[in-house]
Amino acid sequence: MVLGGLISSQHPSEKENIFVATQPKSPKVKLKFDPSTYEYPECREQHIWRPYDGTVDEKAHRAYRVQKCRGCGTKRYSTLYYQVSPELDGQHVKSPTYSYPEDYQVEGGMDRLDRGRLRIHNFLEELK
Ligand SMILES: [Zn+2]
Repeated sequence: MVLGGLISSQHPSEKENIFVATQPKSPKVKLKFDPSTYEYPECREQHIWRPYDGTVDEKAHRAYRVQKCRGCGTKRYSTLYYQVSPELDGQHVKSPTYSYPEDYQVEGGMDRLDRGRLRIHNFLEELK
């Protein structure tokens, strides 16, 4: 872990890669997503987080934690506040942000049907 050096209140994340949730497609739209050819089907259900990097800002009473998924390389950036404040709604941890590898994103996003087929695919793989 690297200590010190960060003054900004912003998490040192890669803004251009932050995931933006998309609205689910209509069920009438033809499905393009194929779980059997997708690179990271397990990560779509659950990432495998491992420590990756971090910084402590003693003056601001904050720590910036970066974790990386062992499966797909997605990084999760969390800001941890040592002191709870009203602006954080009584929380110690702000909602994390993520940066994904390029081939993680699914063109057009995934809807409920895609996610369901993905879970079935993963379960059938577990049974093998
Ligand atoms: Zn992952």
